[in-house]
Amino acid sequence: MRVIVLGAGVVGLTTAYLLARDGHRVAVLDGARGAATQTSQANGGQLSYNYVVPFAGPGVMQKVPGWLLDRDGPLRFRPDFTWSQMRWLLQFLRACNAPIAARTTHALLRLAHLSRAGLHELVEREAIDFAFARSGKLVVHSDGSSMEGARRQMASQAAMGSVQHALTAAECVALEPSLANIAPRLAGGIHTPGEDAGDCHLFCLGLERLLRSSNFDVAFHYSTPVTQLLTAGGRVVGAATSAGVHEADAFVLALGNGARALASPLGLDLPIQPLKDYSLTLPITGTAPSISITDAAAKVVYARLGTDLRVAGMADVVGNDAGFDNRRLDTLLRLARGAFPDAADWTVLRPWTGLRPSTPTGLPMLGPSARWPNLHLNLGQGSLGFTLAMGSAAVVTELLGGRPAPIEMDGLRA
Ligand SMILES: Cc1cc2nc3c(=O)[nH]c(=O)nc-3n(C[C@H](O)[C@H](O)[C@H](O)COP(=O)(O)OP(=O)(O)OC[C@H]3O[C@@H](n4cnc5c(N)ncnc54)[C@H](O)[C@@H]3O)c2cc1C
Repeated sequence: MRVIVLGAGVVGLTTAYLLARDGHRVAVLDGARGAATQTSQANGGQLSYNYVVPFAGPGVMQKVPGWLLDRDGPLRFRPDFTWSQMRWLLQFLRACNAPIAARTTHALLRLAHLSRAGLHELVEREAIDFAFARSGKLVVHSDGSSMEGARRQMASQAAMGSVQHALTAAECVALEPSLANIAPRLAGGIHTPGEDAGDCHLFCLGLERLLRSSNFDVAFHYSTPVTQLLTAGGRVVGAATSAGVHEADAFVLALGNGARALASPLGLDLPIQPLKDYSLTLPITGTAPSISITDAAAKVVYARLGTDLRVAGMADVVGNDAGFDNRRLDTLLRLARGAFPDAADWTVLRPWTGLRPSTPTGLPMLGPSARWPNLHLNLGQGSLGFTLAMGSAAVVTELLGGRPAPIEMDGLRA
C-alpha cells in the first residue's frame, strides 16, 4: 500500500519505520526543515514504561489551587479563553478521579510494555546511536504520604507486570550516591530497574538516516506544510501542500499539536492541547546520577545522556505559546542545581522548551478515525511520547494492515 505519514517527530518516524518493515511504500511529510524539530527534540530522555500514572489523578484537584498560587510551582495556568482550551480543562477535571485514572494507567501500561519490547528489538536489530542506556529509574519522595501513595501504586501495578521495589531514603542513596545532597529531605523512593533512557533527538535522526537507506522504501518531504486533507467517496485521497497534492491509499496523522487544525475541517474534533515543559542540557563534570531520577515533589526529571545531564520539568497551560519564560527556566535551574550541585557545569546550559500534545485523560488516540477509515490517528502521547512511540507505531501498523491490535485497546482507540 502507498502510505503517507504526516509528521516527522518521534511518533511519525517510528510509524514510518514499522510500516516500511511491513512492506508498505511510505512517504513522510513535514513542514519543518528536518526531523524532530518540534516536541521530539530535547525532551526528558526517559523511557518510562512503568511510570505512566496520568496527570489527571484523584489527588490533583486539591493540589491545583496551591500550584497555581505558587508562581514557581510545577503547574502554571494562563487561560487563552478559547473554547478548545476551556473544554479540555473541563474534560481534564472530570478525569481526575480514581476509576478513570486506574483505567488510564492500565491502558498506558499495556502500551508502554509493548513499546519497551519494540524498542529493545529495534536496538538489537539496528545500529542507531542515541545514548541509549538501560539505566533504571528511581522516583524519590519527600514526604511520608506521597511515599505511601507510591507504595500503593506499586502494589497495584505489580499485577500488570511492573517490577518495582520500595526503598528507604538510605537505600536510595546507597543505590544512587549522587542523591546525597537531598538525602535529608527524602522519605524513600520507588526503584524500577527495567526503565531506559536515551536522547530522543539522536534517536529520530538515526532512525531517519536508517529509513533513507536502500533497505527501506521511505521518501521524506521536508519544508512541506500540509494545508488540507482532501477527501472523496468517504476516504481521504490526498494531502494538499504548498508543493502540490500528495496522494496515497492510507494516511497516518502524527502531527502532534498540528493535528487539530488539519482534522477539524474533516469533522474530527480532536481533544489535544499543548502543555509547555522546559529542559536544560548540561555537560557532566562531576557526580551526576547514573540512574534516571524523578523528584516527585518538584516534578523534575533527570537523565544521564552520554556525557550530558538532561533536566526537565514544569507544565504550563498557556495555549500555543512556545516562547521561553526565563522565570520558569530559573526555577528549573535552581531546583536542579540544589539537588545535584556537583553534577555539571551549570554555566554552560542549553535551555529548551517544547509543547506536549496532550489529551485530557493522558490516553493517546490510535488507529482509524471513526469517520474516515483510511485516516489513521497516532496522536496525543503527551508527556510520554518517546516512551510510547514504538508501541503506538506497532498498534497503528497492525490496524492499518487489517490485522488485530497487538494489545487490548480499551481506552486507546481513536
Ligand atoms: C520538556 C519535555 C520533556 C519531555 N520528556 C519526556 C520524557 O522524558 N519521556 C517521554 O516519553 N516523553 C517526554 N516528553 C514528551 C515527548 O517529547 C512528546 O510526547 C513527543 O515528542 C511527541 O512527538 P510527536 O511526534 O507526536 O510530535 P512532534 O515531535 O511535535 O512532531 C510533530 C511533527 O509534525 C509537524 N507538523 C505539525 N503540523 C504540520 C503540518 N500542518 N504540516 C506538516 N507538518 C506539520 C511538526 O513540524 C513536527 O515535526 C517531553 C516533552 C517535553 C516538552
